[in-house]
Amino acid sequence: MRIRVLGAAAGGGLPQWNCTCTNCSALRNRQPHIQSRTQSQLAFSADGEAWYLVNASPDLREQLNQTPVVHPDPSKGLRNTPVEGVILTSADLDHVLGLLLMREFTPVRIYATETVRSILQANSFFQMLDRLPGQSRWTTIEPGISFSEKSGFTCTPIAIPGSFPSYVAEEHRIALDGDSAVVGLLLESAQGKRIAYLPALPSVSSSLKSTLSTCSVILVDGTFWSDDELQRIHSMGHLSISGPEGSLAAFRDCADIRKIYTHINNTNPILNEQSRERQLLEDAGWEVAYDGMEITL
Ligand SMILES: [Zn+2]
Repeated sequence: MRIRVLGAAAGGGLPQWNCTCTNCSALRNRQPHIQSRTQSQLAFSADGEAWYLVNASPDLREQLNQTPVVHPDPSKGLRNTPVEGVILTSADLDHVLGLLLMREFTPVRIYATETVRSILQANSFFQMLDRLPGQSRWTTIEPGISFSEKSGFTCTPIAIPGSFPSYVAEEHRIALDGDSAVVGLLLESAQGKRIAYLPALPSVSSSLKSTLSTCSVILVDGTFWSDDELQRIHSMGHLSISGPEGSLAAFRDCADIRKIYTHINNTNPILNEQSRERQLLEDAGWEVAYDGMEITL
């Protein structure tokens, strides 16, 4: 299985348009030891031909253009795509806005929980994906229920404690199942190798940790280095990297797993390749995802 990180930054990207933090300023001043990153986006393929997107970021158009394996094939006519489907982990704008960039009438299959689908279909913008019969085809996914596709992978959504995006109206929330507003994904190759993708991770329960310990690779929420990096309200839903309760400590004993941080906020000091925080993380066996990173299972 080939996994490609098309974007490794959290919402806002790096640099973020309105931000003067050390990292964003360093990039604008063309300083070395830091790379720009687009907003979080993953693609994977079990057979090298059919590609699946995980989420659809606001940077999707550029991310697809930068990735030849997902370009259309001129020998297959004017309109075609190797993108077989989009698997959504939440209805957050940073994870779904890119769907609106895929509305040029090529059929697309969207995998989402009933909650995520209901949120999107209640929004008139997303009706642009249904202007032709069969333009978008929805497959409902559920935490803990695996599904397989013929190109040779199995995907199991993992329940993640999460909240509704702030644009969901209060009266709509009452009718929704909050337990499937956010999921992580466990992807398994035909050979039985597993990778987990958790762009939002508020805590690590013992059952989640035992699931992740069956993986060869984990791609984990690296939004913030510490809880005080941004005001508390912004860091909700994202376990920080550092600290006694942080993800670095939570996975300290998982030496056999390849561990990679992704969904990294532009303020996070690990983005500076020469920072003390980056060194601490690398000493603990972690890597930092970047746009274009390829992982083979
Ligand atoms: Zn910044």
